[in-house]
Amino acid sequence: MKLPVVNSSESAGPLIDTYGRVHNNLRISVTDRCNLRCTYCMPEEVVFMDKRELLSFEEITRFVAIVAPLGIDKVRLTGGEPLLRRDLPRLVAMICKIPGIKDVGLTTNGILLAHLAQPLFDAGLRRINISLDSLDPERFRRLARRDGLDKVLEGIRAAKKAGFEPVKINAVSIRGESEHDIVGLARFARAQGLEMRFIEYMPIGADHWERDKVYFAHEILEQLENHIGPLMPAKDYDPKTPAQDFEYVDGGGRVGIIASVSRPFCTTCNRVRLTAEGKLRNCLFALEEVDLKPLLRGDGNAEEIATLVRGNIWEKWEGHEINTARFVKPERTMHAIGG
Ligand code: SAM
Repeated sequence: MKLPVVNSSESAGPLIDTYGRVHNNLRISVTDRCNLRCTYCMPEEVVFMDKRELLSFEEITRFVAIVAPLGIDKVRLTGGEPLLRRDLPRLVAMICKIPGIKDVGLTTNGILLAHLAQPLFDAGLRRINISLDSLDPERFRRLARRDGLDKVLEGIRAAKKAGFEPVKINAVSIRGESEHDIVGLARFARAQGLEMRFIEYMPIGADHWERDKVYFAHEILEQLENHIGPLMPAKDYDPKTPAQDFEYVDGGGRVGIIASVSRPFCTTCNRVRLTAEGKLRNCLFALEEVDLKPLLRGDGNAEEIATLVRGNIWEKWEGHEINTARFVKPERTMHAIGG
């Protein structure tokens, strides 16, 4: 039910929109640079942001300290490839110290993780998602347009050794590209004690997206059940979270499916995003954003910034509309938003 429209931008209380969704989850992109060129995520030829445009660690931390009292308690660092940002463990430590922040996570392609897993863990990071679409070096190369499978596997081993539990593995499922990897990845995850998560392919990359290319959640589940074994909804499955979590009936671990296209989770979305150069986006697919850098870098006070954040979230639309003719693809591709 839509709440009556009042101007919430000056009100106190949680970060709420006109659909009553409360926002506690902030994704921060720390760079748009990447050492891979995944076809579904970004173009091969790309002009990255000028490094001077990127928010400094102090500016990012200032922002988090302003939104934490508004109810943000979960932060995820992403990119681009966040491990390309020099000294990232220092930022993790800075964010972990902010009162009210309960949970700091990271999404990485794992290429540089072998040496960074331990310093990140020591800095306070506890949740890690490593993207890996294929265990076949050729298919990895075709999707990522770069080599690196061995380094990612080394990064996964380092994350486990450092103490991350669980280590989650993200794979995008694209028909005709990666559906042949699903069973292999799931078996690998079971054997290594990792939590596999399959993500439906979304229209947010540089390539031409068609709905027919989405390898759907029910097809993924069918493959897993046919080739590995029966699954049941995880006992602690929370329908408000993006991933539908399952457990193998034989006790062989968990698997999550993020059905962003076939089962959008917009009605319970609690996320807001900050891009590497300080633009606030209330939806992954937002067509408008609010530029906070002048305030964070200049002499904008906390109240002004909080008011802009409230206003932006208040205006959040109902949902992404991927499945309708009204859908308009944002100009930014995933690497420049922060996945
Ligand atoms: N570089 C890091 C990585 O590879 O995990 C973080 C950024 S990446 C944009 C974050 C996540 O977005 C990855 O798991 C990636 O697979 C996912 N992603 C990118 N483009 C996507 C698309 N078109 N559809 C679904 N997921 C996508």
